[in-house]
Formats: sequence, structure tokens, C-alpha cells
Amino acid sequence: MTTFEEALAIVLAAVKPLGTESMPLDRALGRFLSADLISVYDSPRFDNSAVDGFAVRSSDIAKASKQSLVTLKVSDTVFAGDDATKAQLAAGESARTMTGAEIVGGADAVVMQEDVDFAGGSAVFSGPATRGQAVRKQGEEFRAGDLLIGKGAQCTPSVLSLIAGQGNGEATVGRVPRVAVIVTGSELAKPGAALAPGQIYESNSVALCAAVRSLTGSDAVALSVGDDAIQTREKFESIAEDCDVVVFSGGASVGEKDLVRTTLLEAGVVEKFWRVSMKPGKPVFFGVHTGGALVFGLPGNPVSAQVTFELLVAPAILKMCGAAECSQKFEQAVLGACIKRRPGRKEFLRATTRIEGGRVYADPLRQQESHMVSGLAMADRLIVVESDVDCLEAGEVVDTVQLRWKVTA
Ligand code: AMP
Ligand code: MG
Repeated sequence: MTTFEEALAIVLAAVKPLGTESMPLDRALGRFLSADLISVYDSPRFDNSAVDGFAVRSSDIAKASKQSLVTLKVSDTVFAGDDATKAQLAAGESARTMTGAEIVGGADAVVMQEDVDFAGGSAVFSGPATRGQAVRKQGEEFRAGDLLIGKGAQCTPSVLSLIAGQGNGEATVGRVPRVAVIVTGSELAKPGAALAPGQIYESNSVALCAAVRSLTGSDAVALSVGDDAIQTREKFESIAEDCDVVVFSGGASVGEKDLVRTTLLEAGVVEKFWRVSMKPGKPVFFGVHTGGALVFGLPGNPVSAQVTFELLVAPAILKMCGAAECSQKFEQAVLGACIKRRPGRKEFLRATTRIEGGRVYADPLRQQESHMVSGLAMADRLIVVESDVDCLEAGEVVDTVQLRWKVTA
């Protein structure tokens, strides 16, 4: 059986970049930059004031003290946005200067307004100023030509702010894949419909489409089919050419009605792996369609479907989007309770996070069977148990992965 690590490597190797597009910044949240963001301007762009106060030549007030006050004429007032490049302080002059306003020529410090007595066109100083005081120097943060954010970074609110701050109204970002989710199962009824005996409500399409949206900000197409080979093939072929990723749920295993894999092989999907030594997720299928779409067959159990999506499908989607980091990073946490289990497959146990005494604890949830659905909604982390391990004690440091569901508008 394919190991989880092999499976992930095979999936990522099959991903082809989708190309790029230009997006207005107000629509680029969550997208991934297609190129390094190189600054065009120095930051700050010009010397400006860090406070509301008075720009001075520091030598003019070098001897000022409470006992020996120094009075300077206020020759100018500069607001943020004013062009102060032509103004020049003469000896004995100061300029009222607001936060963000340009420093007038000749001035080399700003004294905050709270420390100055200002009346009748004069400013009275009761202490000296060091050179450069309260002056934000041009280029002190970065220079034109500096690297601000690397290619593949996600457009967060602050990354968008940086891009806008360099004068760009648009960002060049990776395209997002067109994804279809096909749920299989003759026992499935749509939420809202009456349940016939033996039926259950279908919940994977909403979960998997929401998971796609949380990664890409775009909707996936949801389709459903009964456990029928002809129907399954028809549905698949009706959308495969127009998709970058097709995700099946259910019918991936070895049951008599598990028809997804054979149907996909007949439809010209080239199998890359089937069955992975992981729990949940043993029956996972992965292949590539002749039209280029990556095709995943996930198990139907809602927990298995969501966990395998997170661990194997999400990395592929993120790589397609141009993300610099696409696989889950393992983070260490202290195990909150002992785990006993049958060794054999690498296991991902649902857990909640607790911070205590400055340490991060992962508390495994009680109900870990694949069909037990309630825990995943509470879980924010998966505890990773290596295939040969049969027991982990409370207090041991273990690898975990964070569940990164996030809500994208
Ligand atoms: P399967 O992988 O098709 O054998 O399905 C495994 C289990 O998950 C069965 O108990 C199914 O009834 C259930 N299941 C399959 N698909 C869904 C779905 N879309 N929503 C909820 N449960 C499902
Ligand atoms: Mg089924």
C-alpha cells in the first residue's frame, strides 16, 4: 500500500501550475502572488514627522532647559499632503508640522506639540532635541528595489496593504482551479427531503465545496450520483474536460457497489495510486484524466472525506493556486491523554487544542471512528501517530497538524 508521504508526493508531482491573472486588490484576498513584490519606492518615501509638533534645527534649541527657555518664530505650518520641499527654515525658526507631513528643509528634528508652548506665532522650547528626533527618515524601512514579499505568499489584508502602498491597484496572482465534487451513494438524500428507510442525509458535498471555497474563495460544482457505473461515468465525463480537479466522495473501497475506481479507469483516468496506508483514508484513489484534471476518490465517511481532503487534496489545490507552502506543516504539541491503538497505518486523530502553563496541548477526542461525525466539527487539530506506534502516553510530545478551515467570503 502507498504510504501517506508517498501519496502526497505523487499528488504534488502531478500538479501543473494553472497560470496567472491580474486581480483588483479588493478581490484578491486569499489569492497567492505570482511574482516577488519588489518595492518601487523608498519607505518612508520622504522624511516626515512621527508626531504632531514643531520641526526645528536642533542646534537652535541645543541650550534650551526649564530654566533657560528658547523661543523660535513659527514660520510655517505643514500638514500631511503639503509639499514642503521648497520651504526652508532659517536660523531661529520652526515649522508647525503634523504627523506624516514632510519635514521642511533645514529642520533635523521634531519636538512634540505637548512639550512646546505655542502662542502668538512663537513656540517656546524647554529642552533640547536630538538630531533626527521624531523624524521618519526616507528609506529607513526599505529602499526602492528591495524584496517586500516573496512569490507564492497569500494575499492577507496586510499583504494587500503593502501592494497598495506601492501604488498598485491590482495584483498578479495564481488562477484558482475549477473544482467539481461528485458524491456517490444510492442511500443519500438531500437535506430537506424526507428520508426513506435506510437513507441518510448527504453531507459531504456541502463540506467539500465549503472546503474548496475556504482555500480558493471560489465555488466548486456539486453533483451527485447513485451507485451506478453508467451514471457515474456520464456525470464524470460531462464535467471532466472543464475541471482542473474532480473530487469523488464514496464508492472508493472494495464493496460490491464501490464503482468509482473501475469507472474512472474505464473513462481513461490514469491511476497514480489506490489505497493509502493512512487512517482515516485507506481507500483513497488518485489519478489523472486525459484532459488533465486531477481526480481524487475519497472515502464516503464524512470524517474520512474531510480529513483526506485536508491532507491530500488541499495541498494540490494550493499548489495549483501558486501557494509557496501547500502541504500541512507538522507542529509539536503535548499529548493531553494516552492513546492506545492497533499499529499498521499512519493515523490522524481529531483533537482540540488547549494552552496551559505556556504549553500547547492536543487533547484527542473520544469518538475516533470514521463514521463518528460530531468530533470533527469541534476539532482544530489532528494528532499524527506513526504507523508502527501502538501506544502514546499523556505528556509525550507528538506531531500534530492544524486544521486550517477558514471562512472566505
Ligand atoms: P462509502 O465510502 O461509499 O462506502 O461510504 C462510507 C459511509 O459513508 C457509508 O456509511 C455512507 O452511507 C456514508 N456516506 C457516503 N457518502 C456520504 C455523503 N455524501 N454524506 C454522508 N455520508 C456519506
Ligand atoms: Mg457508497
